This record gives sequence, structure tokens and C-alpha cells, in this order.
Amino acid sequence: MNQTDFSQRDRDDPIAYKREAFELPSDTIYFDGNSLGALPKQVAQAVDETTRMQWGSDLIKSWNQHDWINLPTTVGAKIARLIGAHDDEVICCDSISVNLFKVICAAISEVGNDQRRVILSTHDNFPTDLYMVQGVESFLGQQRCELKLVEEAELINAIDKNTVAVLATEVNFRTGRRLDLQQLSQAAHGQGALIVADLAHSAGVMPIHLTEWQVDYAVGCTYKYLNAGPGAPAFVYVNQRHHASLKQPLQGWFGHTNPFAFEPKYQAAKGIQKMLVGTPPVLSMQAVNAALDCFDDVPMEQVRTKSMQLTQAFQQQMTAHSWSPDFELISPPHAEQRGSQLSYAHPKAYEICQALIERGVIADFRAPNYIRFGFAPLYNQFQEIERAIVILDDIMTTQTYLDPRWQTRLTVT
Ligand SMILES: *Cc1c(COP(=O)(O)O)cnc(C)c1O
Repeated sequence: MNQTDFSQRDRDDPIAYKREAFELPSDTIYFDGNSLGALPKQVAQAVDETTRMQWGSDLIKSWNQHDWINLPTTVGAKIARLIGAHDDEVICCDSISVNLFKVICAAISEVGNDQRRVILSTHDNFPTDLYMVQGVESFLGQQRCELKLVEEAELINAIDKNTVAVLATEVNFRTGRRLDLQQLSQAAHGQGALIVADLAHSAGVMPIHLTEWQVDYAVGCTYKYLNAGPGAPAFVYVNQRHHASLKQPLQGWFGHTNPFAFEPKYQAAKGIQKMLVGTPPVLSMQAVNAALDCFDDVPMEQVRTKSMQLTQAFQQQMTAHSWSPDFELISPPHAEQRGSQLSYAHPKAYEICQALIERGVIADFRAPNYIRFGFAPLYNQFQEIERAIVILDDIMTTQTYLDPRWQTRLTVT
């Protein structure tokens, strides 16, 4: 593929105009939107306005006047539309980790018993997902909660009468492999078990149909493909059929049926509201609110189509060089089987990643020896792929990645 092809593809791209909605430094090619999404211009504006015009001038009145109090539900409803859920099934709060604690406990209290105590997940799930279950396990004891880990390919067949819930991350953070949530959901229900889905690497980059797939619980973050900024609050989804019996142990005052009655006894609110714990982080929740508007006019199918085209184009460019055989693609070879990233194993992955960053191509490194390229269809361009490959080619052929500067590692990789 030559240069005209890439610029032609950008001209033909129906969502190319979306890039304008983002602040992006001109000397940077950003392939890390799967870790921290770029800044939407509207977010900077919304945070500024909330700070100065709302907090700064209306002070505490803002909770009512600017509807801060309902942000978790109104923002939750906006997220619901992106993940195929009903508006009242999603709420914005806390982090994925904290929300996992709530939903794992909710699942145990709903279907757990002496026999049924296993939370089934995969060895290479994101560590926090596993840590949170380990925490529940050590707190409740193994007679109530036991974490069992299997290989991804064996997950579906490992579900049995002892399973409380399958804890599945739709897109694997290392390899980018995509699991079939609908199939897992059916298999879990067939055994009387539930499914908890982690949408960290899928929300905002592909169509998701939680209600249609009958997923029981789900969690996801807003700072990756949803572009809401560092540490922005996460979301949690609970299927309507669990709302009446829903119970989770972090019984904070925001999950009370009437927080401002200040009653000494906890009485749970109705439905998804029960997932709330404490005061929402208004500044970053306004950031989530504004960031979601970027998706208003783009169908998720179109986002997915471009995402697959981007990974295919990059994958193809990675095969055309003398150094290509040293990069082992650890993502599935077909775009339909993966999310919006490509991961390559290389013995010098860390050093190559640092050399790329120095040249303005931002990818990330994941232990032990993977380099990850994430593609954000709302702002990445086909031409960026071509430019990045030229830079990578230079780094590989001149071997600048062997520079001793990159022998020591940074804290955040
Ligand atoms: C990014 C990510 C998380 C992050 O969890 P937080 O508690 O929000 O920091 C969790 N799970 C997966 C699969 C992730 O990719």
C-alpha cells in the first residue's frame, strides 16, 4: 500500500471528521487510547465551566441547580446506550475494581450456596479482576467464594453446577483476543450460573448488546476508549431482572433510599441506585458526561468497522520488513477475533517502545515482552499508521533501541 492509498482511506473515512473533536499534539502519533483516551475539546470546556461557573459561583446550590446529584444516573443512562443496556441498568461510579467487588458479592448473595461457590475466570485476566475476587475469597472464606482460573479457550466448558459466576473480560488487555459474551452468558445460564463482564477494552470501540445477550452484571471504565480522562469514574451495569433482589455490601449513604433523611438505619434504594456508595466526583463525572457526547452522531458499527480496518492496515504494514519476523503477533490474526489493539512479542519490546515514544509514536509496553498498539477510531488516521511504520523501520534498522538510556525502567509503563 502506498501513501496515496493511506491518505485516500482517510478521505473516504466517514468518521474522519471526529478527530477535530480532540486535542492532539501535532508531533505525536497516539496509539495508546486503549490505556488513556485523548482529550476531547468539550471535556476541557465542561470541566472549566463546572469549576468556575458552577462550583465557583453557585457553590453548594449546584447540587440541585446544576443537577450534580443526578449525574451518576444521567451519565449512566448515556453509557447504557453505548453498551446495549436499558437506561436504568447502568450507573456511573467508583472504579472498575470497586464495582467488581460489589457485583461479585451481589452474584454470591443471589445464587451462591454450599455447593455453588466458584467464581470462574481466566489466568490472564486483568490482575485487578483476579485480586478483587481473591479479596472476597479471603474475606468470606473458601466455603462461600473460591476463585478458579482456567485458560481462555477452556472457559466455556469449565462452567458447572459449582459456578456462581463467570468473570470474563470481553477483550483481553494483553493479547486483544475477544471473547463471545453472548455464548458465555448462555452457557453460564444453562448451568444456573451468572455472568459478570468486564468491558474495559470494548466500551466505546465496538457494539455491545448486554440486554440482548442477557449479561447479568458488567463493569467498565471511562478513561480508555470513552476518553473521560485520567481516573474518571467507572460504570456498573446490572440487568433489570436482578434489581429487586440486588444486594451489595458497600452500603453507603448514596445507595440509601433517602440519603438526606440521615436515618441511622440503612435502607437500600431501588434498582441500580443500590450500587452507589458515596459522594460522586463531580468534576470528573462532568468530564465523562461531556466525553460521551463525542459518540452522539457515530453508530458503533461504524466505529467497529474503522477499528478493524486500522488494525488490519497496521498488521499488514508490520509484515513487509527485514525485521518483521522478530515481531511475533500475539493478537488473533483476524480482526473479528480481536478488539482494537495489536500486541507483538519482541525480546527488546521495552526498549523499542521507549525509542518509539521518543520519536513521537506512543504505544505501550506490557510485561514480560509485549508492545501494544491501540487504535482509537474516533481520532486515529490511516496516515498515522504509515508514518509510525516509517519511524519503527528506522529504529529497527539503525538499532537505536539498543541505547543504554533505556536500560532502566519507568514506574508506569
Ligand atoms: C484498565 C482495566 C481495569 C482498571 O481497573 P480500575 O479499577 O478502573 O483501575 C480493570 N480491568 C480491566 C480488564 C482493564 O483493562
